[in-house]
Amino acid sequence: MNEITDAAIIGGGPAGLTAAVYARRAGLSTTVFSSPEPGSQLLKTESIENYPGFPEPVSGYDLLDNMQKQASGAGAEIIEETVIEAELKKTPFSLKTDSGKNFMARTVIIATGAVPRSLGLDSEKKFAGKGVSSCAVCDGFFFRGKTVTVAGGGDTALGEALYLAKIAAKVYLVHRRNEFRGTESLQKRIHAVANIETIMNSVITEIDGGKKVESIAIKNNVTGETRMIKTDGVFIAAGQRPATGIVAGQLQLDSTGIISVDAQGRTSVPGVFAAGDVAEPVCRQAVTAAASGARAALAAADYLKTL
Ligand code: NAP
Repeated sequence: MNEITDAAIIGGGPAGLTAAVYARRAGLSTTVFSSPEPGSQLLKTESIENYPGFPEPVSGYDLLDNMQKQASGAGAEIIEETVIEAELKKTPFSLKTDSGKNFMARTVIIATGAVPRSLGLDSEKKFAGKGVSSCAVCDGFFFRGKTVTVAGGGDTALGEALYLAKIAAKVYLVHRRNEFRGTESLQKRIHAVANIETIMNSVITEIDGGKKVESIAIKNNVTGETRMIKTDGVFIAAGQRPATGIVAGQLQLDSTGIISVDAQGRTSVPGVFAAGDVAEPVCRQAVTAAASGARAALAAADYLKTL
């Protein structure tokens, strides 16, 4: 980006890449900042069965790859750098990336998504990368023939357990309540897989081991009883929190921490828009992220007409 771009889009997931397609079609010069690490939740999803237009399951990787090709094909510039600072208090807005470069933009669309929530255990940090992971598709390979544990009861946890059951010898699925939050179809599949054992009403209270994870302590929330089980890996799937770090103190957030937006994706700062999980209170799906990206891009185009 040599000059001031019309639309700088922070985030290369379905919201950001759809925003890029719509921004280009509205005639805006468009730059997408896409972190080179596998940040998008889509990349962690082995099989997507509910994205329209794909009657057969599509992998998150393939879906995102297609979205990226479509955005580049539409003329968006995709920069594989992480935005570490955003100055949104004066226009043109300025963004600084992890390579130290600065970029200027007339409008900014925040599509930074969400980052995995931790269980809050010190031992989780201690064993990060040594058996503790938040991405079965990325790290499942290391647990072939071993025993792993998935913590959580939403779609991510159920999807991760199903994925890991094809690799590991045994999968424990530990959920804090007596019913799963994830969709019925995934629940049915979980119960049909012989090497998945569900442990309900329970939470992991400790992760133990030497150089790597060897066991976990699990507390039953109803009986209060704690027991130890042997496991080689722990996959945390306890939901996500919105990735709002770079806009902290600059944009209005709601009480749950997502960016407050109106029906067009406009934030509290004129010229700054938000789309996808970072601004979605309820329905955090790839398709809703894509739709909100489209809306934000069209709103950005309308805003530019007023300048
Ligand atoms: P989620 O739906 O928010 O579920 C998080 C799960 O973690 C819940 O079961 C929650 O328990 C549990 N949890 C939260 N904090 C915990 C803690 N401290 N200790 C133990 N357990 C904890 O998150 P998600 O599964 O990542 O899904 C996020 C969104 O993406 C959802 O809207 C989901 O539908 C969507 N998604 C869709 C697909 C798909 O359609 N293919 C795939 C993945 C994700 P409670 O149930 O008790 O709250």
